[in-house]
Amino acid sequence: MRVLVSGAGIAGLTLAYWLRRFGYVPTLVERAPSLPTGGYKIDVRGTALEILKRMDVYEAVVAGAADMQEALLVDRDGHVINRMSGDQHGHRVGEDVEIVRGTLCRILMDRVAGAEFIFGDEIQAVSQSGDSVQVQFAKNGAREFALVIGADGIHSNLRQLAFGDESRFLRDLGLYLCVYSIPNYLDLDRLEIQYTELGRMAAIWHSRKDSDLKACFAFARSSAGIDLRDRAQQQQALRAVYADIGWEVPRLLDRMEQATDWYFDTAAQICMESWSQGRIALLGDAAFCASPMSGQGTSLALIGAYVLAGELAAASGNHRKAFAEYEREMRPFVEANQALGMRAANLMRSNQKKTLGAWLLVQLMRLIPGRMTEFFIGRSTQRIANVANAMALKDY
Ligand SMILES: Cc1cc2nc3c(=O)[nH]c(=O)nc-3n(C[C@H](O)[C@H](O)[C@H](O)COP(=O)(O)OP(=O)(O)OC[C@H]3O[C@@H](n4cnc5c(N)ncnc54)[C@H](O)[C@@H]3O)c2cc1C
Repeated sequence: MRVLVSGAGIAGLTLAYWLRRFGYVPTLVERAPSLPTGGYKIDVRGTALEILKRMDVYEAVVAGAADMQEALLVDRDGHVINRMSGDQHGHRVGEDVEIVRGTLCRILMDRVAGAEFIFGDEIQAVSQSGDSVQVQFAKNGAREFALVIGADGIHSNLRQLAFGDESRFLRDLGLYLCVYSIPNYLDLDRLEIQYTELGRMAAIWHSRKDSDLKACFAFARSSAGIDLRDRAQQQQALRAVYADIGWEVPRLLDRMEQATDWYFDTAAQICMESWSQGRIALLGDAAFCASPMSGQGTSLALIGAYVLAGELAAASGNHRKAFAEYEREMRPFVEANQALGMRAANLMRSNQKKTLGAWLLVQLMRLIPGRMTEFFIGRSTQRIANVANAMALKDY
């Protein structure tokens, strides 16, 4: 059975692997001209580690891990107010592993060698008849597939074409996120440094084998929104929001105009009543993004891909039955992970609340920011670990 997968990210590549293993013939169409390398660091935790092991790539992922040695928390003048291990800072326990997104994609790609890849193209139109889906590619003409799966990220093109406008499904968490690369002018080695207050965060990190540093900002939205298509406006907003922060922030902002991998978006979740429509289904961030605030998007993508392919195999290709089972298996896990993301975003936005509790929290963050940040990190680590392990995998 021929299955088109839109998006060769973590969800798409993992799905292609399991589809092939269960005897399906996947074609991947990826908008980027080639598999992107680099990117931000991501975590794989809990049940998702079992997927990596079943794919026989866990050792390769550990060997390619970001290997963060230490994290320093600083105040707005750059004085170190707390230090902790990279794992403690990243909420990692046990075998949890952190890796640069592009490195993980490359490892997954090696496991799907032989599948058909179409790079630098995307689906332009889809329509369904009784036993097939007709796909019009932007550059590669028209083709027919038995099933089409959208693994094309939070701003999924297939979702837009087959399910409707993004605004119907996007739950905005009220925060902006920005990440970009700059030269390693501080000569950092596998170290993360972070300034945090409620409503604003700035960080830099260097991960293993990366010649650059990543600069990262997260801040609560004020009443005026920022145009997500207007980089100049985004840069202007960053300068205004961080104008009174010292430490390395002025130098990070000075270098942002030269960045070639500029990422700026809202922290958001995707919430849909159904992830499938006929022979078309969605997966990963396209279907159930929990937002970077959850730290669980990669694990959700890996598990979702395994379950989707597995249910197709279990139903002997009966897509109606398989898509329904996929949703039944995944939904409680997705909801628990989205609740994690929502909670982290609410904490970040506490400074906007006009309650006594929120006022006290803001004062404590001002008085003992290092200790408070450590306290919140410890508390969320347990919560994330519980949720990351809250799903038992079926054997398909
Ligand atoms: C700044 C940041 C930090 C994050 N940190 C973490 C973290 O610490 N831990 C964690 O677990 N997760 C984290 N995430 C989330 C994580 O990256 C995603 O949840 C995860 O990558 C989801 O995988 P995916 O394959 O569904 O989507 P994506 O990784 O977004 O992949 C989608 C793929 O589809 C391609 N594509 C897009 N449009 C089209 C189109 N029209 N046609 C064809 N292809 C298309 C894209 O090029 C991409 O290759 C973070 C995300 C961001 C943005």
